[in-house]
Amino acid sequence: MIRTLLAAALFACLPGIAGAQAPDPRVENLLRQMTLEEKVGEMTQIDISIVTRVNGTATIPQQIDSAKLEQILVTRNVGSLLNVSYVALTPAQWVDLTSMVQRFAARRRLPIPVIYGIDAVHGHQYMRGATIFPQNINMAATWNRDLVRRENQITAYETRASGIAWNFSPVLDVARQPLWSRMNETFGEDPFLVATMGSIAVAAEQRDPQPAIDSLLGGGRVALASAAPRQSDIYVATTGKHFLGYSMPLSGKDRTAAWIPDRQLREYFLPSFKAAIDSGIRSIMVNSGEINGIPVHASHELLTDLLRTELGFRGVVVSDYEDIIRLSTVHHVARTRRDAVRMAVNAGIDMSMVPLSTSFIDDVIGLVHAGEISEARIDEAVRRILRLKFEVGLFTNASADPAKLANVAAPAFTAVSRKAAEESITLLKNERDLLPLAAGTRILVTGPGATAVLAMHGGWTYTWQGTDSSMYPRNIVTLLDALRGKFGSASVTHVAGAGLTTDGNIEAAVAAARNADVIIVALAEPPSAEKPGDIDDLSMPAAQLRLALAMEQTGKPVVVTVFEGRPRTIHDIVGGARAVLQAFLPGPYGGETLASVIGGAVNPSGRLPYSYPRNAADVEHYDRTASGDASSSKPDNGYRPEWDFGAGLSYTTFAYDSILLAKKTLAVGDTIIASVTITNTGKRAGMEVVQAYSRQFYASVSPPMRRLRDFDKITLAPGERRTVTFRIPVQRLAFVGRDNRLGVEPGEFELQIGGNVARFIVE
Ligand code: BGC
Repeated sequence: MIRTLLAAALFACLPGIAGAQAPDPRVENLLRQMTLEEKVGEMTQIDISIVTRVNGTATIPQQIDSAKLEQILVTRNVGSLLNVSYVALTPAQWVDLTSMVQRFAARRRLPIPVIYGIDAVHGHQYMRGATIFPQNINMAATWNRDLVRRENQITAYETRASGIAWNFSPVLDVARQPLWSRMNETFGEDPFLVATMGSIAVAAEQRDPQPAIDSLLGGGRVALASAAPRQSDIYVATTGKHFLGYSMPLSGKDRTAAWIPDRQLREYFLPSFKAAIDSGIRSIMVNSGEINGIPVHASHELLTDLLRTELGFRGVVVSDYEDIIRLSTVHHVARTRRDAVRMAVNAGIDMSMVPLSTSFIDDVIGLVHAGEISEARIDEAVRRILRLKFEVGLFTNASADPAKLANVAAPAFTAVSRKAAEESITLLKNERDLLPLAAGTRILVTGPGATAVLAMHGGWTYTWQGTDSSMYPRNIVTLLDALRGKFGSASVTHVAGAGLTTDGNIEAAVAAARNADVIIVALAEPPSAEKPGDIDDLSMPAAQLRLALAMEQTGKPVVVTVFEGRPRTIHDIVGGARAVLQAFLPGPYGGETLASVIGGAVNPSGRLPYSYPRNAADVEHYDRTASGDASSSKPDNGYRPEWDFGAGLSYTTFAYDSILLAKKTLAVGDTIIASVTITNTGKRAGMEVVQAYSRQFYASVSPPMRRLRDFDKITLAPGERRTVTFRIPVQRLAFVGRDNRLGVEPGEFELQIGGNVARFIVE
């Protein structure tokens, strides 16, 4: 029998939540005065590129066409703007733009401020000079909650300072399809890891970060007294995206069809959204794709029955980019654009990221007049949008904050980015302790990662694809620069050897290897975002693998380093490499950090937030059921990743004592209290990620071999011992049963920590 205690919290209709929020008199007062045109304008979001006279470049500032802005904001009453017109703006340009927008908004009949939305997904990366962080996949690889919190406090601070109160972040998608081009934007493949990091990001951005920022700045670099405290409940509204099941297209290509059974949808993809809603997330963006043949933008079942009635979400649901129109042009569930709008609004979408015209306004007004969308539905959507605008304080303080902008990229902020890069780098192989390399080692560096700046950052950096090098700061240190700095130019030889996707002069690299003690082969995936990042083959581009193989054939020890957003398979070169370092997309400090790891100044402590496939067809996840497990009778068709989820080595060693359980028989309402003592048995200080997994031996639905239930990251000096105690509610062991409801099934379990196991029973 499944005990559905948790289901009561998660899946039952919660009386008093959905739609039962107490009316806000400020909202009701405005709503009463609004015409239908004004209300539908509020529901409309427009891309800034349609009101520019000149689109910006690295040298030419973007220019707004005031007549177009007047038309959009004052005549059509548009409630929200988004994006940049192709390139990132300077802080001063952001101040000008966001102030100009609010000045125009103040001239409407009802002076309702505009809410400007932006993708600040690894720092406020559409602001030049902002603190740029590693991508989320690195943040997950740090397994360090505190770094995620600090990253998001700084991002919120810099974003709000530029006059923007709405962030299209965090991505809460769970990366179960390694071909997918947006894996780097996620916190990995595990629902608990994604839910944990995602909800920390939400709380960190939405709460006033000022106390944390003050303590980071150590008293403040500018006279912050000049910046009035914000009178708002929410500092920057965050957006959980992309609801729901966006990350697992069957083909692996972005925005193609997914087929996801309900049980899987709820088991893997829902928990991160549920956790973010519990953390008070204020908006949700819809999955552009279709699940089981039904485009999510037209799914009342997902957007209203599940999101509102079951999960109790009260905030704003925004469409993704042009995706309402695509119900007709791509998904073919609507004959016309007007039909598409009817379906989407009636399914539960409150705001349309139209975003390249005001067609949505005319369509909705026509549909209301024809009785195909009710006025009550319009009021419901507008209420949510106005409430959001009040909650983020736009009515009282919509402006940018130049005093705070003086702190952008303060050394204390960039130090957090650097630390995150350091803690994300994951040592996957280190045969006979090749690393760290001693001073004086003669190094040949080859491969496109050696000089890669863009491939260190990935997409969503200054521009959408991250590929406009003119936008990047000039002083970014590449891996090659950093190695020269650490080992001395005389000890470091560089031969390009290969491009990202093109062959180079391998012979020159082979010749240069003769005078080297060690070869570093720096691999890199080309930067991309979304659809342009689609690939036909999970393998690392062949030119790079050819180079690596040729280097291994020289007989010199080879260190492979990787900059990549998803796990491109590299099986053919792993056996011949003595060491492998996964750097993911570490951002501006990636080159220096990687060199510090290679030279030993930084002891690596990253752990994989996904299972690294051995071959393209070996896509199996660590939490496979027993039927997906490798065994002696089927060694080749089970879970046999190149590297396991959670894997990562250190330059020191850790020993785990056996697990101590406070109680071995527990009830569904109890908490598992498990302690484990870890000792640093090596010669240097190091950080260990203590990972707690559970396994249920028998259950009515095939149980996974293990599921992550908690984790902690600790630092230990040589010889130091530390006890970590996990408190894991038994309810966290719940799974989605045959009836699609979440519940704990009593039975026999084991807890797995650091290679040890402890059995317990749930009655
Ligand atoms: C992406 C979203 C993003 C939006 C606005 C879309 O193409 O899928 O993640 O927030 O654009 O830039």
